Amino acid sequence: MSVTMRFGPYGGRYVPETVIGALDELTEAYERYRDDPDFRSELGVLLGHYVGRPTPMYRARRLEEAWGIPGGLWFKREDLCHTGAHKINNALGQVLLAKRMGKERIIAETGAGQHGVATATASALVGLGCRVYMGRTDMQRQRLNVIRMRMLGAEVFPVDAGSGTLKDATSEAIRDWVTNVEHTHYIIGSAVGPAPYPEIVADFQSVIGIESREQMLTETGDLPGTVVACVGGGSNAIGIFRGFLDDADVRLVGVEAGGEGLSGKHGASLALGSPGVLHGSYSYLLQDPDGQVAEAHSVSAGLDYPGVGPEHSHLRDLGRVTYSNATDEDALSAFLECCRLEGIIPALETSHALSYVRDSAGDLTGPVLVCMSGRGDKDVDQAGEALGIDASA
Ligand SMILES: *Cc1c(COP(=O)(O)O)cnc(C)c1O
Repeated sequence: MSVTMRFGPYGGRYVPETVIGALDELTEAYERYRDDPDFRSELGVLLGHYVGRPTPMYRARRLEEAWGIPGGLWFKREDLCHTGAHKINNALGQVLLAKRMGKERIIAETGAGQHGVATATASALVGLGCRVYMGRTDMQRQRLNVIRMRMLGAEVFPVDAGSGTLKDATSEAIRDWVTNVEHTHYIIGSAVGPAPYPEIVADFQSVIGIESREQMLTETGDLPGTVVACVGGGSNAIGIFRGFLDDADVRLVGVEAGGEGLSGKHGASLALGSPGVLHGSYSYLLQDPDGQVAEAHSVSAGLDYPGVGPEHSHLRDLGRVTYSNATDEDALSAFLECCRLEGIIPALETSHALSYVRDSAGDLTGPVLVCMSGRGDKDVDQAGEALGIDASA
């Protein structure tokens, strides 16, 4: 098969025998349709007229001045996508695949709720039933997205196991898939999971990097010096990085959740984790010496995951991408600066990338491009509480 199954030693399929057939079926469907003109044109029309692509390339002049970035600061505005983040690029691609595979039912896991909303949206669009697994803790943190999913006709299924976050929701979704694999397609929301998912998700997100490369050349006449993206499972990051992987002079930086700091609770799998198996794939993850998966922590539900996609693990080992991290506190202050200086409320996930740019400004040469992975509407309750901003008179 010509679909990438491993990235260096990472990736593969560590799953129950019962889903191997479904992974093969998905691989075949993806091979058959990924360059199929009808498939590409149906997806292309939806990306244009439904999602709003190409998303703009915006120069953030006030932040650029405040943070001292001589080469300029640009935002790739995935926050302007329909449903508010990059997740819809992948959800639409996978729903169209599921339809062609004759599946009747869609399931998904969600952390921040953005992937759940994107999947519920795409399922409504093509008329497929949809169930979304979500940890109880995340349901409380992301109340509005729970209501959105339910309005869109999806069933939101609370997961109480473990810490009630993304890892637990993912385990539950896998369990459902194993049972219902014949008529159900599982839409994984990040560049993680057993092969072929990491490749499929990266491919559907690579539209971010393809557009960005062209737009930077048009806007600045040059490639960016540095491209920065936050890393949860790694789909927005790999999506934008893929536009620049062959440009050796473009520095690529992924920013993980530093949480309370690296000596406390965090989500920095690439900084402090070690390779192991989680959710069907071999990659860096946070685990104790006995191989028990550790609990991640981040102020942003979308980065609160103890694993990371296998392609990032490989790029880390190769040294092609540098991985850094930002704490909750630093991300929150970058969040507020972006609100106040640009009039853009960024997602808390994205704020980690912004925090890196602010704190490394002195070392960044050339134009700096940040993947503005999503908007912060979903985060206003939580960020408001942390920052002491509320609606009381
Ligand atoms: C889900 C999410 C992320 C993290 O997921 P990746 O797969 O790492 O991109 C980042 N930003 C936003 C806005 C998200 O919704």
